[in-house]
Amino acid sequence: MKKNAVWIAVFAVVVIVCALFAVFNKKPGDTAQILRNGEVIKTVELDKVEEPYEFAVEGWSGGENVVRVENGRIAIIDADCPDKVCVNTGYISDGSRTIVCMPHRISVRIVGADADIDAAAG
Ligand SMILES: [Zn+2]
Repeated sequence: MKKNAVWIAVFAVVVIVCALFAVFNKKPGDTAQILRNGEVIKTVELDKVEEPYEFAVEGWSGGENVVRVENGRIAIIDADCPDKVCVNTGYISDGSRTIVCMPHRISVRIVGADADIDAAAG
């Protein structure tokens, strides 16, 4: 009897862990790519961000975009480009929108979990 209870508990834990893993693994759009002139210069796994942080990205022909990363979302919060379209786009959290800074040729996009994460984890 006691042994059965232990096995049931172990089984339950395994099922829960598998379910959680599947949920997190299948969650689409958790990797952000920062591109300059069409080339990926930085990749951020948004679901692994614990504390929000910021970093600067240099534009194609000078200038600077300040990118802020939070858990599950990313934005360009400051830039010295003339139009500020990138800043006005605000936060993106899935692949439906892309942040583009035309003057600096910088863009930020979110790609699906099965695109790049598998390759990086392998
Ligand atoms: Zn801009």
